[in-house]
Amino acid sequence: MHVTRRSLLKSVSAAAALMACGTSRALAGQAWDMIVVGAGTAGIPAALFGAQNGARVLLLEKAAQVGGTLWFSGGQMSAAGTRRQAALSIDDSPERHLADILRISRGTADPALVRRAVTQAGPTLDWLDSAGFEFGPEFPLDATGHEPYSRRRIWGGTQRGYSVLKVLERELATARAKPVLVTRFDVTDLLIGSGGTVTGVRGVDESGKIQQFHAPRVVLASGGYMANPQMFAELNGRPQYRAAGWPANTGIGVTLALAAGGYTRGSQNYLCDFGSIPAELDLPSPEYARSIHHPQRRMPWEIYVNRLGQRFIREDDESIDTRERALSQQDDHRYWVVFDEPTLSAAPTLVRSAPPGEVRDWTRDELRAAFDEAPAFVRADSIEELATRAGIDPAGLLGTIRQFNDAVRNGSDSWGRRYMPRPVDTPPYYAIRHQGGTLISVAGVAVDESLRVVRPGGAPIPGLYAIGELLGNGSLSGQAFCSGMMVTPALSLGRWLGMTLSKRA
Ligand SMILES: Cc1cc2nc3c(=O)[nH]c(=O)nc-3n(C[C@H](O)[C@H](O)[C@H](O)COP(=O)(O)OP(=O)(O)OC[C@H]3O[C@@H](n4cnc5c(N)ncnc54)[C@H](O)[C@@H]3O)c2cc1C
Repeated sequence: MHVTRRSLLKSVSAAAALMACGTSRALAGQAWDMIVVGAGTAGIPAALFGAQNGARVLLLEKAAQVGGTLWFSGGQMSAAGTRRQAALSIDDSPERHLADILRISRGTADPALVRRAVTQAGPTLDWLDSAGFEFGPEFPLDATGHEPYSRRRIWGGTQRGYSVLKVLERELATARAKPVLVTRFDVTDLLIGSGGTVTGVRGVDESGKIQQFHAPRVVLASGGYMANPQMFAELNGRPQYRAAGWPANTGIGVTLALAAGGYTRGSQNYLCDFGSIPAELDLPSPEYARSIHHPQRRMPWEIYVNRLGQRFIREDDESIDTRERALSQQDDHRYWVVFDEPTLSAAPTLVRSAPPGEVRDWTRDELRAAFDEAPAFVRADSIEELATRAGIDPAGLLGTIRQFNDAVRNGSDSWGRRYMPRPVDTPPYYAIRHQGGTLISVAGVAVDESLRVVRPGGAPIPGLYAIGELLGNGSLSGQAFCSGMMVTPALSLGRWLGMTLSKRA
């Protein structure tokens, strides 16, 4: 079944009604072993496994419904050593998964944290499997738009992130021992006792009343800060180019961890993705569509230029990682795909629609129509006019096209490009603006391998834990995009922490 964002959100209130909910006032004064802030990808498993192992768990959620980013996420998960891999005779292990992540990230991911995550990933996927997760028929894969793994270990459902959420909702509704869930509760502060020990949380309930709850263990699972461009810029040292994610994720977890004495790390690992066409020229912008830039799927007929009109990559380079790194070096992480009329008329499909709607390749007519409708698509009768209208340096673009056309004629390109089916020489000319960006928070809260939030010297802050996107892609994938390395770590570290803390309770 195909799921649109609208149909997903329609089903939200029905789903929320299934949960074991409490009202914050009725719960005031009760004793809790553990409080989990945020009922999303990481928070639900943490609360669920804490409660199932005997802890009294309070799960506080700011939105009216649970699920967080899973409503929008691709939901792809990487996990090694699973039952399903064994059934397919895929020889894999957490060690190999870790080695792949360190290879792809060139050693920039946090090995201790990644080891913990990949060790827990297999059992977590097996748990989803046993709980009725509906696997998409195309999985497992070794690559999905990012640098490939050495084994087929990427898993996903028939309904993207919603497939994961369906299992979490069902488990929350049917588990014998449930966490108590309070929705529409906005956690705003930590309660901090003597010696800096975290003893609970304070927040605002749906009637606007301030409430506080006490527990010796507080787990921050409130997602990243993709709904807070100012925090994004402050933590990563560059603007947020892509508008994405769950609107409630304004980075409260970061604010609370910093207030308790923690710190953030990983901003040096920022890397932008490749192939994204923005819906608007004002940034951050949602994605409008994506271009098919992998030579493995479509050889390039076009050239890619930066704001100066200069090429910055061999367009037929097979490595996605190389493209992402080259784009990350360009001004504003922006580039244009430039071509002429014969290419538009004859080349295979260049653009495809982007999730969360239906993902499919555009027809040639749809591509033509975009030049009349969408701000990122520019058409002109001369190269100079195209450059001026698109925001590219005209002299630079003219010079680049001249050089490229020479290269096509001579069969020798200074960038080493081999696939050059035709020059760019017949009007009208076309330029599609692309914007590199990220869907996920990069810098994140520093934790140790037990997921305790730590101070700059490494000492843990008593009573405070963090999981999920709050830890940052920069720690879990380093300076790279490692497929499925946000959803699986959120689920599996959440599950592991819930079990571990409940034992202590
Ligand atoms: C479009 C898109 C596609 C993606 N695709 C993939 C993919 O295919 N594979 C992959 O690995 N990763 C993917 N990701 C990233 C991944 O989905 C997220 O990193 C992950 O789901 C985040 O989990 P989380 O538990 O940290 O946050 P969430 O799941 O967002 O949960 C956080 C919860 O905390 C709540 N909250 C926030 N503030 C408060 C507060 N003050 N008080 C109480 N509650 C609060 C929120 O409402 C939310 O319910 C994608 C992300 C996007 C945006």
